[in-house]
Amino acid sequence: MEGSNQIVSEPRRLIEHNGDIYACDHFVYPEYRLGNLHDTDLIALAASPFLQTFGQDKLEGLSPGCHACRYLSLCFGGCPKDRFAQIKGRDVPQNYLCASYRHYFEHTAPAMQRMAQLIWQGRSPAEIMPPRNGGAEAGPQRHPAKPG
Ligand code: SF4
Repeated sequence: MEGSNQIVSEPRRLIEHNGDIYACDHFVYPEYRLGNLHDTDLIALAASPFLQTFGQDKLEGLSPGCHACRYLSLCFGGCPKDRFAQIKGRDVPQNYLCASYRHYFEHTAPAMQRMAQLIWQGRSPAEIMPPRNGGAEAGPQRHPAKPG
């Protein structure tokens, strides 16, 4: 499987170069193959019990730590494929990347909140960036004349 041969369709289905359809681009395994474009009704497929269960598993597989997490609405436990970190005393594994996710959300939250404020004010979120050239007027770069 190579990325250049894939088309990712919304919501989160994957179609391989040969027309095979999978539930998700992170689950391209035989047991997650849903059919092939040439012989599968896509409307019926979207409502298939398999896909309903696949989506529901993402919710039901959340760890207790995720349920209590302040970033749940942003992260939602991450990809189920990465939920394999065993935590002592807990039956449900945690996402292997949890510490990184938390670090990312903590680091970016102030900037995200500031950009949201700007949008609510009808302004561009790009205003969060420092002015170019330390506030000097933007324009073409001027180079000193070469000594003659
Ligand atoms: S940051 Fe960690 S605990 Fe919070 S929702 Fe994501 S995986 Fe779960």
